[in-house]
Amino acid sequence: MEQYVQGEPIFLKLNSIPKQYPYLTEDISTDVIIVGGGVTGAILSYYFSENNIQNVILEKNRIAHESTSITTSLLQYELDENLKALTSVTSLENGVLAYKLGVKALKEIEKFINKYGNNCEYSLKDTLLYTSNKIEIKEMKQEYELRLKNGFDVEYIDESNNPFSFDLKAGVYGKNGGSQLDPFKYTHELIEISQSKCGKVFENSEVTKVNYFEEYVEVETCYGHKVKGNIVIVATGYNTKVFTDRNFGTKTTTFNIATKPVSEFNGWKNRVLIRDNNDPYNYLRTTDDNRIIIGGEDISFIPGIFNEKKAEEKYSILENKLKNMFPNIKDIEVQYKYCGAFASTKDNMGFLGKDPNNEKLWYCLGYGANGILFSILGGGMLSKLYLGEEDKNLNLFKVDRF
Ligand SMILES: Cc1cc2nc3c(=O)[nH]c(=O)nc-3n(C[C@H](O)[C@H](O)[C@H](O)COP(=O)(O)OP(=O)(O)OC[C@H]3O[C@@H](n4cnc5c(N)ncnc54)[C@H](O)[C@@H]3O)c2cc1C
Repeated sequence: MEQYVQGEPIFLKLNSIPKQYPYLTEDISTDVIIVGGGVTGAILSYYFSENNIQNVILEKNRIAHESTSITTSLLQYELDENLKALTSVTSLENGVLAYKLGVKALKEIEKFINKYGNNCEYSLKDTLLYTSNKIEIKEMKQEYELRLKNGFDVEYIDESNNPFSFDLKAGVYGKNGGSQLDPFKYTHELIEISQSKCGKVFENSEVTKVNYFEEYVEVETCYGHKVKGNIVIVATGYNTKVFTDRNFGTKTTTFNIATKPVSEFNGWKNRVLIRDNNDPYNYLRTTDDNRIIIGGEDISFIPGIFNEKKAEEKYSILENKLKNMFPNIKDIEVQYKYCGAFASTKDNMGFLGKDPNNEKLWYCLGYGANGILFSILGGGMLSKLYLGEEDKNLNLFKVDRF
């Protein structure tokens, strides 16, 4: 079995499990079967429930224990690639549209928090994309101008007005360009809300087979019980084999370390979300309880093989990088180290929508660095699609677009 998460998942360490859910002990029927109980499955269940559509989540293990337990949860409208770089794989219009949809998804989270309260350590954040490399100054400036021209609230910074303690030759500072949250708390909260409406959840209920009929679709679970529905939505993250042979993305392993709470954030203006312009890039955030998470150093993901020594090397590189960036933060001490699979696509966008060959098989796969935001867009657009309203923006995320 492929293992996608290694080490000590920070969000499982920081949280206690608020609720355990039953496993499936009988055959049942619903409208929408959601397979996968990570943040994506929870988001889907929330949106379908808000639209009064009956739905059932089937999770093979425990809720939010896979990728969702380690996602850094940097929620930014920008994709892994800069707008300019995206034009090598898609049109500028599509790139700008994807960025704008990112802004829309950020607003959706804000709306959710305003409606249900902030129970998941959510906060709105400014963002920084920067380079310490002189030869990339022109690229940064171009990126800034392109975003400004397309209506994004950005500022250009360089060595002359660098408010950070690290070497910055040029950067794009995005005002309210992102947010952050605790993905474990967020997932459980979404599920609790769905359950109070028309969502149901079963843990330890792995889907092992799917059968399609003229009028309905049926999934079989590991203990033999079946769920019948009108459609099945694949929200299984990086593991889609039960449903399709399609190869959706290129998998890498990305590494993270998280510190103990630090006493100050000297040299880190506004505790913004940070991403550098390297390939692979490094990304950083802080937490509500004053920790720092830094990630990156990605390498190819090899199924079934985990190289402990390599992982330790990567964690050390991240620790040194962090200490070099913030020499004024004196009490940096690493507490958690972990890594996990991560899938990217050519245009950095996930897959949302119907299988081109099967009306009853739908996908919500938040691949790329904006996985959670794509899932939010998926929740909104797929629940409307189920009700007969097709959002033209779904075209950007089409399963067979390559
Ligand atoms: C280190 C790291 C950092 C990341 N940082 C970010 C970030 O900053 N921002 C961002 O948006 N994204 C980030 N990502 C990507 C991120 O993890 C995803 O966006 C998000 O967590 C994916 O959630 P998910 O629910 O799609 O997947 P998962 O959390 O993996 O959930 C899928 C679930 O499906 C279940 N499942 C699989 N097969 C079956 C089956 N047959 N039957 C039943 N259940 C099944 C699994 O057990 C699992 O619980 C990061 C990823 C990693 C590894």
